[in-house]
Amino acid sequence: MRLVFLGPPGAGKGTQARALAREWGVPQVSTGDMLREAVTTRTPLGSEAKRYMDRGDLVPDDVIVGLIAERLGQPDAKKGVLLDGFPRTIAQAQALDRLLEQLGQTLDRVVYFDVPEAELVRRLTGRRVCRRCQTAFHLAYAPPARDGVCDRCGGELYQREDDSERTVRNRLEVYARQTAPLLDYYRGRGLLSTVGGEGTIETIRQSIRRALGT
Ligand code: AMP
Repeated sequence: MRLVFLGPPGAGKGTQARALAREWGVPQVSTGDMLREAVTTRTPLGSEAKRYMDRGDLVPDDVIVGLIAERLGQPDAKKGVLLDGFPRTIAQAQALDRLLEQLGQTLDRVVYFDVPEAELVRRLTGRRVCRRCQTAFHLAYAPPARDGVCDRCGGELYQREDDSERTVRNRLEVYARQTAPLLDYYRGRGLLSTVGGEGTIETIRQSIRRALGT
């Protein structure tokens, strides 16, 4: 099973991908998580990427494609992969096509999370994430049992730097300009399934399962 979860920031891709990848036994490959890890461990990639991430801009395609090429070549990605937050530009989608072809693999489906913009802003600005296990909470919609502490692993919750209102607006603009054209790209190839991204985590998960016939 090779899937792409596509949608604007705050649509719930990461939350669903984390749980479903675990359930299906395939790796969740999130370029955002990989970049944040590189920033935390202060690698050269991390310091280059941080400049873009802090502004809410996309990291250059060649950097991202290099990361993905290396990740897809690892043994655990042979049986399948759930791509979350990649591809984000037409150039990345074309690079993914080439990479999969070289590996003798194909993309099975692209799940698009459809969420109205006002809801995205509310979700992103109220989001808090666990530093340790990346589980996402929301101050109003899904608060943790104890303030600032992850229910899952006890890790510290923090607000991502790019979840401030100003950066969120830019991320949504960047999405509309650079990522939304992927909808036509995949629709044209008959790979796109649209899922309504509003509702409870469980009802959205059921819609994804229905869309995939699992
Ligand atoms: P995310 O966690 O997916 O919202 O990603 C956070 C930030 O990482 C984005 O705003 C971009 O700066 C960067 N990023 C993540 N994935 C990509 C990608 N596929 N292409 C370019 N930049 C990315």
